[in-house]
Amino acid sequence: MIYLDYAATTPVDPRVLDAMMPYFRENYGNPSSVHRLGQKAEAAIDSAREKVAAVLHCRPDEIIFTSCGSESDNLALRGAMMARRNASGKTWILTAKTEHHAVSKTAEQLEKEYGFLLEWLGLDEHGAVTTESLSKAVCNNTALASVMYANNEIGTINPITVLAEIAKANNILFHTDAVQAAAYLDVNVEKLGVDLMSLGGHKFYGPKGVGALYVRKGTKLLPHMTGGGQEYSLRAGTQNVPYIVGFAEALHLAAQERESRTAHVKPLRDHIIGNVLETIPDSKLTGHPENRLPNHASFVFKDVDGNLLLQMLDSAGFACSSGSACKTGNPEPSEVITALGHSRDWALGSLRITLGVDSTPEHVDSFLNALPGLVEKARKLHN
Ligand SMILES: *Cc1c(COP(=O)(O)O)cnc(C)c1O
Repeated sequence: MIYLDYAATTPVDPRVLDAMMPYFRENYGNPSSVHRLGQKAEAAIDSAREKVAAVLHCRPDEIIFTSCGSESDNLALRGAMMARRNASGKTWILTAKTEHHAVSKTAEQLEKEYGFLLEWLGLDEHGAVTTESLSKAVCNNTALASVMYANNEIGTINPITVLAEIAKANNILFHTDAVQAAAYLDVNVEKLGVDLMSLGGHKFYGPKGVGALYVRKGTKLLPHMTGGGQEYSLRAGTQNVPYIVGFAEALHLAAQERESRTAHVKPLRDHIIGNVLETIPDSKLTGHPENRLPNHASFVFKDVDGNLLLQMLDSAGFACSSGSACKTGNPEPSEVITALGHSRDWALGSLRITLGVDSTPEHVDSFLNALPGLVEKARKLHN
């Protein structure tokens, strides 16, 4: 099997696993316990928090460990909106149709069940949120804008620094979902100027089931998990010590090796994009041609059932994705692809190829040899 689905998840780096192991067996204490075993666990959490803070250029007490990227998004949106309404009565949230469901569904729930107001920001042809649409949308009642750093389905990178500046000038909070971006892009929160930023461990060779939320000092959140005082009383529950240690090590390695990892995948990605567009009739790139994640190639093929193509690729030994992994098996076209303005006959045929540390030129060549025939076959079955 050739794995070309690193945006869905990544294998755990052996160095990360080594860092985690002692916290399952020897150092199993509860970080809240007073005794020495507890102190050891607490020290591990403290040093993980410092490691994460060093990558993000923030203070350790601005990092909240969570159970995943989705939870970080939930805490950011629900926590900030509830707190802002309590403090100032502001009820508007701004976000985009291209967001991961962890953001868009949370925003929709806030609107439907909790009485908040939701407005979708405008997109350009490559699926980037436009700065003009944010400038236009802000009003006295706006509480928060949430725009992802890089898109998981189409790879497009959003102009976060400019968007965050606009938000700040208008006194609204700015959240970014950096779950997909953190593997390859600079996540320095000072440079980005964001108030809240979500991360998830398993997108950068850390374990699944652990995430973090950066919360700028002074940003009020209503805790969504109440109980003990863990994580500065924002997220109750005994911390998952080995996973938090693994998360921090994986993020540290991602930052340290960012340039070499990018240099490894980018030429492979460019080869895929050039070759697919050249050899497959009725194919289009989705997302931005240059301003996109360096490991990310995504397409739509006219009159192709994307899920059928995925199954055929799977049988041929290739693991890819059609749009977001969460939508596999769903015959409706992806909302992200639809938001780009593709008609149904194109939007149903989406394919995402994402590369990683173990990808080789041989993998890419054998994929590119197989794809045109499979697309042709899928097209015949479609008509
Ligand atoms: C994967 C992903 C998430 C969800 O993260 P989990 O850790 O799987 O919950 C959120 N946003 C984006 C952009 C993602 O790619």
